[in-house]
Amino acid sequence: QCKEQGRGIFQVYDADMNSEATELFALQNNLRHALERQEFMLFYQPQINLQSGEITGLEALIRWQHPEQGLVSPATFIPLAEESDLIVQIGKWVLEVACQQIVEWQRISGLPLTISVNLSARQFYDPTLVETISQVLRQTQLDPKYLELEITETIAIKNIPLAQQVLKQLQGMGIKIAMDDFGTGFSSLNYLTQLPLDTLKIDQSFIKRLTSDAKELEVINAVLSLGRGLHLSVVAEGVDTPEQLELLKSLKCETVQGFLISPPLPVLEATSKLQAKSLQYQMSEQDIKQTL
Ligand code: C2E
Ligand code: MG
Ligand code: MG
Ligand code: MG
Repeated sequence: QCKEQGRGIFQVYDADMNSEATELFALQNNLRHALERQEFMLFYQPQINLQSGEITGLEALIRWQHPEQGLVSPATFIPLAEESDLIVQIGKWVLEVACQQIVEWQRISGLPLTISVNLSARQFYDPTLVETISQVLRQTQLDPKYLELEITETIAIKNIPLAQQVLKQLQGMGIKIAMDDFGTGFSSLNYLTQLPLDTLKIDQSFIKRLTSDAKELEVINAVLSLGRGLHLSVVAEGVDTPEQLELLKSLKCETVQGFLISPPLPVLEATSKLQAKSLQYQMSEQDIKQTL
């Protein structure tokens, strides 16, 4: 009796686990063919300079157009791809497409736009990374100073000496390095002086809590002054309310990115915005209301 019940419970639990595991397994299997089937695409989220309102660059964010499941978030499939060398191939594709795209956008807009590309751990520590990047830069003729690579604290602290070595090589090529999700890792201040960096991207979670609360303001203010002291530019990520924007302005934050300015856009939409020069954001009350 007891066994029956036990087994019953187990079976229900097991079925759930199974379907989840099966789903992940299926995704992982499909992932292997997604590149050749051309199911990946890049969206681009603009970053603007708060003082001028002008777009300074865009972050490339990968999407997977799954034949059955629709758009799959990178938060779901990047970790799966990370389990094998698949991430290295996907990462190379992202670099190629993103660099080619920014060259095209620089040409049609006449703006000195930077492209930001996210790197994952396995891709960052892969011995072919530097060669891949120089190859992509050669092919696309992108001036390296307009390429910014985003890594996270988690990636950096896996192997600080190696990270240091790789970053030095990249920076030596003229490429910019950003610390993504800044403030969410554990040894934030420890590596800051050891790694060659150009940009800190304040994690969204700090911006989400950014209200007129004195303590929250002080934390952002501290990161901004850290950035100034270390000669790093600072980007605030995940800005999605006018209040947050105003506060960041009052704190003299240089660059912002977030849904309030623009969500990540498919190529055609980003292109028409760039062509219309409508990315010259004017932060009037009117515009902000329209964005919302
Ligand atoms: P991330 O690099 O920190 O990218 C920012 C994420 O926050 C993006 O999610 C973006 O859509 C979202 N976001 C931007 N503004 C706002 C806002 O105002 N409010 C809210 N709630 N969210 C906002 P996404 O595109 O889903 O990407 C998630 C993560 O996936 C990225 O975080 C990055 O770590 C990873 N990822 C994306 N593309 C790539 C890629 O090409 N390669 C690698 N290795 N990782 C990628
Ligand atoms: Mg990023
Ligand atoms: Mg981030
Ligand atoms: Mg993130």
